[in-house]
Amino acid sequence: MRDRTARPPRAEAAGSVDGPLPPSGSVIPEAAWRRALDLIGEADEIAMACHVSPDGDALGSMLAVGSVLRAMGKRVVTSFGDRHFTVPRLLGFLPAQDLLVPPSEFPAAPELMITFDSSTLDRLGLLGDSTAHAREVIVVDHHLSGTGFGTLSLIDPHVAATAVLAEQLIYRLGGTLDRDIATCLYAGLVTDTGSFRHSSTTPEVHQMAARLVATGLRTDEIARELWDRSPFGYLKVLAAALDRVRLEGELVWTYVTRVDRAAYGLPYAELEGLIDIVRRTDEAEVAAVLKEDDQGAWQVSTRSKGAVDVGSICAALGGGGHHNAAGFTSHDTVDDTMAAMRALLPGLATPPDPAPLPESSLPESPLPDTNTRDGEA
Ligand code: AMP
Ligand code: MN
Ligand code: MN
Repeated sequence: MRDRTARPPRAEAAGSVDGPLPPSGSVIPEAAWRRALDLIGEADEIAMACHVSPDGDALGSMLAVGSVLRAMGKRVVTSFGDRHFTVPRLLGFLPAQDLLVPPSEFPAAPELMITFDSSTLDRLGLLGDSTAHAREVIVVDHHLSGTGFGTLSLIDPHVAATAVLAEQLIYRLGGTLDRDIATCLYAGLVTDTGSFRHSSTTPEVHQMAARLVATGLRTDEIARELWDRSPFGYLKVLAAALDRVRLEGELVWTYVTRVDRAAYGLPYAELEGLIDIVRRTDEAEVAAVLKEDDQGAWQVSTRSKGAVDVGSICAALGGGGHHNAAGFTSHDTVDDTMAAMRALLPGLATPPDPAPLPESSLPESPLPDTNTRDGEA
């Protein structure tokens, strides 16, 4: 392993894929990076996990580091703790998926475990338990609301994506950034910056993107895979969700049930982009989409334009995330879930009259009761 622990000069111009360490702007102490390199150096087998229902940042960061460690001769397994273990269709293009094993094959007591993009044990799902039995657990993450698991933190809430930290780790390990590894990291960077639109898109983000694109990856193909395709059923479910969307003061929200999806065989993961359509509402400061997963729980996505900290609101409701993008899981009805959320939103404690819906779409009861599952497919 090359020694990359000394504070490096700034990165060379784009095109240098194996040059000095990229600029980090990192709050992570050098001693923590050195400790991570030591732990990795000593381990023969490394078990990696990312958060459940992985997004591009979680899975991309994990597969990128996993590929580098495998190339260094380590035995590597990677996984995520979903009961129904499938890679979301959106991420099917990611290279290195042969590193993935289902949670049932994940070591129960790994010598070294590394987690990606997960701020809490909950977010690791079925793999949360392995952290308790692992000898060492390195946490690589960029969320604010961490609950302090793991034996070594590589956490920097100032970076746009876990992929930024994954790139740092790869450079420090002396790994080579080839096109496949860069594709994984790029997927993380574009996912978490909303395609370089969010305020987290700093000069360093663009500099990192330049280093990644210089490997020859196909930005057009990645963008198409991530955002510009979906099964026909998505359009129909979108239509249902938009038909029942409500504007309550500065809150805009809607929901999608399992029944909506079942009618078109639409997997839950296909709903990821729905919040981006709802949040465009000019009149609203906060947007929320309640998505019923296959187990009947409501996964709530929230977005703010800046004035409201949805991260703290979701944390108060048992979830987490960032100031402008956060989420939580609810086992209540849609009504109760929204009441709990309104109570935490400034000036929105009491539900206003429902926005008028077109006559044809008025259901008998405007909101489904999630505790009664009658008539469900
Ligand atoms: P999403 O709305 O799923 O795109 O998630 C937005 C942000 O909220 C991401 O940073 C997630 O990590 C976080 N988040 C979403 N759902 C949860 C949850 N159930 N618990 C904790 N954090 C969550
Ligand atoms: Mn994530
Ligand atoms: Mn992330």
